[in-house]
Amino acid sequence: MRVIVIGAGLAGLTCAKVLAERGNDVSVFEASDGVGGRVRTDERDGFLLDRGFQVYFTAYPAARRHLDHASLDLRAFDPGAVVHRGRERSVLSDPRRDPGSLAASLFSDAATTGDKLRTLRLVADAKRDGTESAGEFAGDDYADVSSLEYLRGFGFSERILDRFFRPFYGGIFLDRELGTSSRVLRFTFRMLSGGDTVVPAQGIGEIPKQLASRLPEDAICLNSPVEELLRDGERVTGARAAGTEHEADAVVLAADALAANRLAGVPAPEESVGQTCLYYASGGLGTGKKILLNGDERGFLNNVVEISNISESYAPPGESLVCAVALGVMDAPDESLFRRGIKDITRWYPDADLRPLAAYRIQFAQFAQPPGVHGGLPRNRTSTPGLVLAGEYTEDSSINGAMLSGERAAVEVLR
Ligand SMILES: Cc1cc2nc3c(=O)[nH]c(=O)nc-3n(C[C@H](O)[C@H](O)[C@H](O)COP(=O)(O)OP(=O)(O)OC[C@H]3O[C@@H](n4cnc5c(N)ncnc54)[C@H](O)[C@@H]3O)c2cc1C
Repeated sequence: MRVIVIGAGLAGLTCAKVLAERGNDVSVFEASDGVGGRVRTDERDGFLLDRGFQVYFTAYPAARRHLDHASLDLRAFDPGAVVHRGRERSVLSDPRRDPGSLAASLFSDAATTGDKLRTLRLVADAKRDGTESAGEFAGDDYADVSSLEYLRGFGFSERILDRFFRPFYGGIFLDRELGTSSRVLRFTFRMLSGGDTVVPAQGIGEIPKQLASRLPEDAICLNSPVEELLRDGERVTGARAAGTEHEADAVVLAADALAANRLAGVPAPEESVGQTCLYYASGGLGTGKKILLNGDERGFLNNVVEISNISESYAPPGESLVCAVALGVMDAPDESLFRRGIKDITRWYPDADLRPLAAYRIQFAQFAQPPGVHGGLPRNRTSTPGLVLAGEYTEDSSINGAMLSGERAAVEVLR
């Protein structure tokens, strides 16, 4: 069977890989100059700059079916986090192996048994689900509410919410208000407690590169935006890419939500959450392999990591790379963003020397995932003969969600 895949993000690449493994003739048309979509790494002056801070969880169930973890040379963060409030800092040791430490570390002066028990219950509750993505229905005894409401339902105090849950999960969901669906919180909590949080040694862009390497050499056409789907009556029969028409038995639309809507009127969620990611070269902050969180309600940055401590390849010898994230996308000029970032970091580490390297403003990092959104997402199968959808927006907004969607789209084509 001849199949066209539109888009070489993780969903499109996973779909193409599965179809090629089953002996199909697959062509992937990608609008940009590289594979990976939102998951790419730039190389600049010996530094590896991921296009926005993102991490991979080794427990991701769908992703691990398609990725060879060993060849990705995955490098793990230390579990836990360092939470900064003004000049104070508390180290959260390892909530995975010792869930009670979450409460103990943050309330070292007043750790209550109740806080520890709540954290243990949270872990046990999250582990009950066996879903493949946050979007899957996790049981009828469970109502989908905001993460904030869910955590308050456990009885967590406002203090632990402000000092830990908002910056930590705010950094993952890009939403410090914790308005994100509790399905995403539960799924992420299960991923965090079931494995390691990692990046590939050579940057997050190694993930799509590995998928692309499983395809025949000429299967991917870069700089080839699809302008239009070809139709014969109701049926989609191919695509016009960079001015040339290509026919196929099936077309998989694996473009992002906005492009999928433009090309085929797909009702994919178009509301987004964004991130401003600042990179600094440094002589080294000495912060180890933990994520640093801003536990102050005010302040500019949400989370910071010395990413070259996770993998030394991120910086040239003798240098260190600091990755700092502010939630949302700001209009201010780069210099002003860099200055504000330095102000936060030097409040925590007064001796820090930081040289601005690059600023990434990412408007559409993830689609917004308020409670209830997952139930209304489009399916892989469409009512248009010959057309199948792949993209995070059929599952949840994550590496795993995109890859699961790609896998399911391939199954749909083969049906
Ligand atoms: C800053 C940031 C932080 C994130 N953090 C995490 C994290 O920590 N963990 C996690 O699991 N996930 C994270 N995510 C989310 C995750 O990266 C995405 O959910 C996933 O990559 C989406 O993949 P996709 O294939 O569905 O879409 P995309 O990556 O958007 O791929 C779509 C592709 O289609 C192409 N395309 C569009 N229109 C056309 C056209 N007309 N013709 C041809 N090609 C076209 C695009 O160029 C693109 O390559 C983050 C994302 C960002 C950006």
